[in-house]
Amino acid sequence: MDCIFCEIAAGRAPASIVYQDDEVMAFMDIIPVLPGHLLIIPKAHYRNVFDAPPEITGKLMETAARLAPALRQATGCAGLNCHIANEAAAGQEVWHLHLHLLPRYPGDGFGFRFPSGYGRRASRPELDEMAERIRQALHALA
Ligand code: 5GP
Ligand code: ZN
Repeated sequence: MDCIFCEIAAGRAPASIVYQDDEVMAFMDIIPVLPGHLLIIPKAHYRNVFDAPPEITGKLMETAARLAPALRQATGCAGLNCHIANEAAAGQEVWHLHLHLLPRYPGDGFGFRFPSGYGRRASRPELDEMAERIRQALHALA
């Protein structure tokens, strides 16, 4: 299988590594959106959050929390976004699970775009109906 992040995890492709242990690795994104843009990956190959055991995704977030203070100190960022793109519809381009750490700076110009018409508060019945559907799916998949 031809996976650049597997190659990086195995030490066969170059990367600017910030942290690694037996399960995860954090390294600089090669096309940083903003200074200090980091990626955290599991060393084992998983496509994304739909495919990985929840503990693995949890380990990515735990690592993010451990790195965050150092990232802030090193970059002087004012904020931080943690982001995972899962599947093409969500913007995934590399098919090995990865968590983006995106340091944010005042006026940096980056941001999520909201769909047109955003801003209508949902009714309680709408929210309850969707919550019920998700609860049922949770039971069905358990
Ligand atoms: P995605 O859109 O899949 O969430 O993000 C993929 C990210 O991987 C992009 O930000 C891209 O710049 C980064 N990337 C792609 N190829 C490489 C690579 O070979 N090395 C590093 N360090 N980052 C990469
Ligand atoms: Zn991989």
